[in-house]
Amino acid sequence: MIIAVDGPTASGKGTVAKHLAARYGLKLLDTGTLYRAVGLAVLDAGGDPADEAAALAAAQALDLARIDQDRIRSSAAGAAASKVAAQPGVRAALLKAQRDFAADPAGAVLDGRDIGTIICPDADVKLFVTASLKARTTRRLQELQSRGETLDFETLKTQIQERDARDIGRADAPCAKPRTRICWIRRSSMSKRPSPPRSGSWMRRARH
Ligand code: C5P
Repeated sequence: MIIAVDGPTASGKGTVAKHLAARYGLKLLDTGTLYRAVGLAVLDAGGDPADEAAALAAAQALDLARIDQDRIRSSAAGAAASKVAAQPGVRAALLKAQRDFAADPAGAVLDGRDIGTIICPDADVKLFVTASLKARTTRRLQELQSRGETLDFETLKTQIQERDARDIGRADAPCAKPRTRICWIRRSSMSKRPSPPRSGSWMRRARH
């Protein structure tokens, strides 16, 4: 079984994906880590994440086994990630690793922006997780503060809006709701019931 979980920054899709992977015994790939690692590699080399040659070289050199899971969570890595992610060459370079991960006969859960649309268009289940800008900013602020980063709410909110604009507005694989088999999960329900979905009472299929 392939479960695709998409949604904007700090919507809680990673939490949903983790619960589902644990519940169904599936392996999990947070595809944002790939773009974050590429963005961070460009920054570490003193480059500009918007520089296509630098970003492509970093994507082609990416070693999944050597991603620094702590450093990629910084706000700088997140901003750099959305700049490299807007580049078709970078997306093409990272496509195979994601599809290979999903091709495991045992199944998998993948979360990101384009899983249900591009990476796994035939996924058995497609979820699009979203939340208000305020809720997402609060969530990301708590995460960054726990890492020792000091950012004020309004600055972070602006950064998230900028990131949304890049992720939704890009030409290649924009963050979008898959057209089929959509279930909506409300963040408010998630906070009351952090267990995976079990009934139709807090999920509904989208109309087409
Ligand atoms: O999900 P996360 O915030 O870690 O993703 C970082 C950035 O990576 C996103 O803002 C987005 O630009 C990019 N991304 C993407 N496609 C994915 C996953 C992440 O473009 N499948």
